[in-house]
Amino acid sequence: MTETTTTSAHCQCGALKLRITDVPVVQLVCHCSDCRNLSGMPYVEAAFFKSDACSADGKVDATTVKGSTGSDKTYYSCAVCKTPLYVRVTALNGAWAVMADRLSPFTFKPQAHIWTSQKADDVQIPTGITQTPERPPKELVDVMVSGFWGRK
Ligand SMILES: [Zn+2]
Ligand SMILES: [Zn+2]
Repeated sequence: MTETTTTSAHCQCGALKLRITDVPVVQLVCHCSDCRNLSGMPYVEAAFFKSDACSADGKVDATTVKGSTGSDKTYYSCAVCKTPLYVRVTALNGAWAVMADRLSPFTFKPQAHIWTSQKADDVQIPTGITQTPERPPKELVDVMVSGFWGRK
């Protein structure tokens, strides 16, 4: 029996829609200054999916910046209502990091808070969850490398 997982996401006005046919590889809360500046939020809660599981329908505004690894990451928002919806990460084989609060049906279960060295002063991170000052911890990097690149 094959089970097809389908999750969708859309912007505030509904002009930009995503369809996702797989479960996320990782789920992270990112406090880096790029995420904060480009999303307009104090931090970004994102679920990371393989690129071949994701498709988008609608006009986007795209902003590309260099990630910490030196490769590109591109932030996409709806061209109409400007809602930030997803980020594509070249360093993760083009993975789509989708804003978790926009996904439905979906329950966000963050595995770590990353880039806490750049977090907003008034943001409190709950206790009992992994946090790192910069990149994700080694065990999650391993999961991402094998999940997105298909190698160990
Ligand atoms: Zn929109
Ligand atoms: Zn970030």
